[in-house]
Amino acid sequence: MSYDEKAMRRMKALLKVNEETGCHEWQGAVGGKNDYPSMHYRQRTRRATRVMYALTYGEIPKGMFVCHSCDNPQCVNPDHLFLGNQKRNMRDAVIKGRVKVPGLKGEDHGNAVFTNEEVIRYRKEYQAGRKLASIIAESGFTRSTVQRMLAGRTYSNLPTYPRGDSYMNNRR
Ligand SMILES: [Zn+2]
Repeated sequence: MSYDEKAMRRMKALLKVNEETGCHEWQGAVGGKNDYPSMHYRQRTRRATRVMYALTYGEIPKGMFVCHSCDNPQCVNPDHLFLGNQKRNMRDAVIKGRVKVPGLKGEDHGNAVFTNEEVIRYRKEYQAGRKLASIIAESGFTRSTVQRMLAGRTYSNLPTYPRGDSYMNNRR
């Protein structure tokens, strides 16, 4: 058994599956201010979410963060992990109320997850035939957040660009 296979086996022994949410909740050591799942891996103490991500999907590009789609910091289920950059990570944290940014009013900025430029660009690209999945992947947001933005249910102050096959009649 390789070192990585053993590391994976160690991690699996430290998980408790939450049947309701599908989260793999970490029962092992924790570290840092926020008690994130922590483990020894290749001579260092590391975040278990990063180790799990890397062993499942491959190396994490420099500067990228492992984020939770389930918003459960104790979860190491690779299906609930995705890569984000610092900007995205911070914006997600602000949206979810975990980080207070001085000068930002939580409510007002809590929903302001796309910039105006992004909204218009994504809407135009979607109208021109860009795949929904591709926009979801690039933006790092959930399907419902992206769909609501494209359909004009959020950012309703900005123009929409309906597709021939009307978005609203063609939910995917
Ligand atoms: Zn989870």
